[in-house]
Amino acid sequence: KNQPPTLAAMARRAASLFADNEFIIYEEERIRYGAWFRAVAALAARLLAAGVGRGDQVAIAMRNLPEWPVAFFAITSIGAIAVPLNAWWQGEELRYGLENSGACLLICDEQRFRVVEPLRGQLADLRTVWVARPSAPLAGAEALDGLIGPARDYALLPDRDLPDVPMVPDDEATIFYTSGTSGLPKGALGTHRSTLTCCLANAFSSHRSSLRRGETPPPSRPRISLTVIPLFHVTACNASMMSMLMTGGKMVMMRKWDAVEAMRLIEREKVSVAGGVPTIAWQLLEHPDRHRYDLSSIESMAYGGAPAAPELVRLIDSDLRAQPSSGWGMTETSATVTTHAAEDYVNRPDSCGPPLPVSEIRIMAPDGQMEMPVGEVGELWAFGPQIAKGYWRDPQATQATFIDGWVRTGDLARIDDEGFCYIVDRAKDIVIRGGENIYCIEVENALFAHPAVTDAAVVGVPHRTLGEVPAAIVHLGPGHEADEVQILDWVRTRLAPFKVPVQVRFAADPLPRNANGKILKKQLRALFDPE
Ligand code: ATP
Ligand code: MG
Repeated sequence: KNQPPTLAAMARRAASLFADNEFIIYEEERIRYGAWFRAVAALAARLLAAGVGRGDQVAIAMRNLPEWPVAFFAITSIGAIAVPLNAWWQGEELRYGLENSGACLLICDEQRFRVVEPLRGQLADLRTVWVARPSAPLAGAEALDGLIGPARDYALLPDRDLPDVPMVPDDEATIFYTSGTSGLPKGALGTHRSTLTCCLANAFSSHRSSLRRGETPPPSRPRISLTVIPLFHVTACNASMMSMLMTGGKMVMMRKWDAVEAMRLIEREKVSVAGGVPTIAWQLLEHPDRHRYDLSSIESMAYGGAPAAPELVRLIDSDLRAQPSSGWGMTETSATVTTHAAEDYVNRPDSCGPPLPVSEIRIMAPDGQMEMPVGEVGELWAFGPQIAKGYWRDPQATQATFIDGWVRTGDLARIDDEGFCYIVDRAKDIVIRGGENIYCIEVENALFAHPAVTDAAVVGVPHRTLGEVPAAIVHLGPGHEADEVQILDWVRTRLAPFKVPVQVRFAADPLPRNANGKILKKQLRALFDPE
């Protein structure tokens, strides 16, 4: 049957080409493409039976579990819109994501269920919650035994095709939320076309980057990736997971990062692609027990999302003897727009590479009217079929950011005369902790909410392996007392753990500010020693 290129067609293709290949490894569970597809088809039928249809939003909130790719393809293959929510989010953050997306159904793990359940009364659109692998029956959630749950059940499912729902490539398929660095997270609306283009471009670039120097491509050697970056980030879903699906590769999933467990898995599963963010590469390379494990299967160490130290690139190349590979992208571009690897990268470790074959980039003056001369710094703009359609339910932000197929990135960059892009600065106040973006103002607001705090600032402190970590400086009001532990406990109840500062300094005076009232963070950063 002639199928238009959609995520449903992609799922069918993978299931028929690679039915007997292993697709997902999770702890002791091993799921082949055929079994995964049966679970997708069964869950898709169940979604239709629950009244979910084309264009409806269905949220996913879970850590990396085998049910994630099952849920994602079940939702998108009936023409509904998948809304991957950040599984680190706490109550208010999850409430925002569910309310903003207008999801009518949520598929989540038990931890997220416990956070969302008390908020159900505030979520008018959310009708149904399905919980993957509950430890016991849960009040308020529908049990889906055998449909989504431990993978051994998938083998019992009948062989069936996806429901036949008419779809076209320009149908909306995903809403991925941005990190919320410059304000509230915005939902970037992806279509089947933008997602598939992104997958193709990434499958191409990761294939290229998995070759050792001078090697010619083997006929077809499925890659084995260590999937540790959360699947709710575009890079993990649209780049890493999808390129496995296109090539019959294997995902070795980790629910959470742990360096020793990662090395054990790399050895056991002969992982060929590892990485995700620079921090993970650092932790593997520097681990005192590294030489007790056989990591020689690693062909490529690929990461993005944050700048990597040139020293890291050199170590991956010379010490691990693997290919370093990196790239730049944002949620609005479905995943990466620029990538590079091997000599290109080793020789220019401070670049994030040239654009993918389907993309274009340019450097614009701040007014957005004029292109900057080669080599000069300006705002990076990106163009290509993988750019999102716009922001979900935010026409104003869409109009300001998406212009004639281009996206204004808010990053400051330059492009050299060979076409390599260099990210110079972020036009915004954030700390990137091991690939997770932290909006300083959000943490500052949590500090300000403490009754004793009258002034507060959060700055990034260099950290050898995490890149940077957040640190706080607070000034207490007269007559108030609070110590570091109390302040941090306060923040912990309000924000995801990765946003909690690593240390708090107490300033005797209100914090230094410039004439516009903006805190002089440069001065404050100098107060902290690197971690
Ligand atoms: P928001 O858009 O909500 O303010 P955000 O921009 O941090 O948050 P993401 O889409 O997750 O949300 O992150 C994209 C940003 O990450 C880029 O705009 C850039 O600032 C940063 N980034 C991505 N890749 C790289 C890289 N290779 N080097 C430096 N910075 C990078
Ligand atoms: Mg952004």
